[in-house]
Amino acid sequence: MTTILGVFGWPVSHSKSPAMHGAAIAALGLDAVYCPFAVQPEALGDALRGVGALGIRGVNVTLPHKQAVIEYLDGVDDDARTIGAVNTIVNDGGALFGFNTDAPGLVRSIEESGLSIAGLRATVLGAGGAARAAIVGLARAGASEVAVLARRAGAARALVEELAPHVAPPLRAAGYEALGESFGRTDLLIQATSATLRGGSEAEAFASLLPMDALPEAAAVVDLVYEPLRTSVLVRAEARGLRTVDGLGMLIHQGALAFRRFLGVDPPLEVMAKALGRPEDASLSARSKGA
Ligand code: NDP
Repeated sequence: MTTILGVFGWPVSHSKSPAMHGAAIAALGLDAVYCPFAVQPEALGDALRGVGALGIRGVNVTLPHKQAVIEYLDGVDDDARTIGAVNTIVNDGGALFGFNTDAPGLVRSIEESGLSIAGLRATVLGAGGAARAAIVGLARAGASEVAVLARRAGAARALVEELAPHVAPPLRAAGYEALGESFGRTDLLIQATSATLRGGSEAEAFASLLPMDALPEAAAVVDLVYEPLRTSVLVRAEARGLRTVDGLGMLIHQGALAFRRFLGVDPPLEVMAKALGRPEDASLSARSKGA
């Protein structure tokens, strides 16, 4: 019987998941389909009951449902509970279990670039959903400390207070007045705001705020935004000769981890990357010095 998978979002038409998963399913010759489901917020409960009732094997969850789905699930994994968001739901014989593959997906995309996160001092810019996943991912991967800097220092503080009891490394929170001091002790900078999305003057203004010269020579810079692939922040990091990692790797790896949970096999990463439009001459997620 054909395995049915999909993604719940509202709107959902922008989601790249159907293309990415569909290409992997086709490449492996599996009897499965992956559909976009436009689920209005008020219909979320009904839609999730439908997953069980119709025998849908699993769904990914995107905006605005990542937090709201939790109350309808039979269980969630530790990362999803700590982050407070689920992006993958698996239907196990009628019981729905939620996972967060964003955090491990980010870790894989960074480690694939040749960096080991263990022992690194990290700085995360932003205090939204992507920042939450990044902080938990970095902590689980053994970062020695994580500084969270947001334009609203209060938002960074609230996030750190909430997450600190659940992760091992020390977390610090600050506003942008601490950018210079923080960058000076950063091995790994994670841009997790939406400021660089779609480029333009806001993205340029944001990048010019950042004291890239204060970063150590061996520092690496990651931008979670993947539209554009070379964001204003990555362009400035490259100009300084720093190692950079774009956001497409995280998107691919969170999808690959979900695919494995749904279907029990690893998808071909290069096929997924191609379906997302990564140029064939680019490595999967990293541009490093001299690469
Ligand atoms: P949220 O809306 O939850 O958070 C956005 C954050 O960005 C907030 O902290 C916000 O601050 C901050 N921000 C927005 N504009 C600016 C600005 N001009 N200067 C400084 N800070 C700013 O979004 P998410 O956290 O869910 O997503 C952030 C980005 O990460 C998205 O654009 C998305 O493209 C990317 N992402 C990538 C993924 C991947 O797989 N690669 C996965 C998930 C997200 P404030 O609260 O003050 O407005």
